[in-house]
Amino acid sequence: MPNLQIPSHLILTQKQKEQLYSLPVSEFTDVNWEWESQNSAHSFLRKYNLVLENIQPEHKWKVRYSDKTKGIYLLQCCCGSDMSLKSKKSNSEEVKTRKSRQMFKFVGCLAFARIKKFEDNYISIFGYLNHLEDCQRCLPCQPPPLQLNETVKRMAQNLLKIHASSSHIHDDNMDFIVKHLDGKVIINDERFLLSSQDLINIRNSMTKEIWGLDKRKAEEINIDQFFGPNGKDNEITEATIYYKPRKEINDRFMLVLATKNQRDLAWKFGHQQILHLDGTFGISNKKVLLFTLLVLDDQKKGIPIGYLIFSAAGGAQRASSSYDHSILKELILRYKNKLEQEKGCAFIPKVYILYIFIY
Ligand SMILES: [Zn+2]
Repeated sequence: MPNLQIPSHLILTQKQKEQLYSLPVSEFTDVNWEWESQNSAHSFLRKYNLVLENIQPEHKWKVRYSDKTKGIYLLQCCCGSDMSLKSKKSNSEEVKTRKSRQMFKFVGCLAFARIKKFEDNYISIFGYLNHLEDCQRCLPCQPPPLQLNETVKRMAQNLLKIHASSSHIHDDNMDFIVKHLDGKVIINDERFLLSSQDLINIRNSMTKEIWGLDKRKAEEINIDQFFGPNGKDNEITEATIYYKPRKEINDRFMLVLATKNQRDLAWKFGHQQILHLDGTFGISNKKVLLFTLLVLDDQKKGIPIGYLIFSAAGGAQRASSSYDHSILKELILRYKNKLEQEKGCAFIPKVYILYIFIY
């Protein structure tokens, strides 16, 4: 098969690569789905346990590569991955943890699938979906991970709802185990000790439930859902003074936010008075910069009256080297214009004071 391109992210031995290349074309699956045939896409994928949303850590399919923006997911049967190959490439610490997580034995299975998805729709699948007989017989050599107890989960959810810190939630969980379970952390195949990963999972599913935000989707899709022209949350739309998505590599993402109450406070304590600007660089791993506009109230207490958020310029290595006078000026002007539009007169602070924190 001269045109076959085996994805480079698969973990395969030389022998497996040769086996794949020697297979006739007809052995490979290559299917495209139309928008309207999503039902058949789902039933096809279900047959092979390849519905991406349903893949669990204890399954044989492992994601070897994914690009959420392009909607590309490359999966491989873990019975086909000789993890000792990986150990030659990566550092030993990482391998130790990976190895211990491997639940199935390596039997040289060749199955892999490259799935393309756009938003919620499956577009295509290409791959070799036949598992070796040895693979089909292969049972997990480690038991599947134990489920977290529902009560523990609900306790964590309740605390997350009132914005408790992670350490507080872990302490509360420990207290519960000591007081009510006699210190036992596993009872009847259920776990009672909350791990950091549990907490991340619980938080993510709450975010999805409350905000309709799916963290598996590309960030720009989620952001657009909130701040874009089709935003459904009136409160957010009302507070969005300016939103510019990043469409090209050299573009910046820009966002100016202030609630009506904050805008009123700006008039009360910012007009003809001092406006403070507090800058934080790199508030997320996406090199986003945040400048908070603050005023001082009667008691000289700082109150935030608006947020200027923007991404680093394309190609910038560090968020801190990525802002200048002109971008701040542009965003402050957007803020000021909004205030003036609403009130019909000029908003003039006496002076701007800038503070900067770099993380
Ligand atoms: Zn397999």
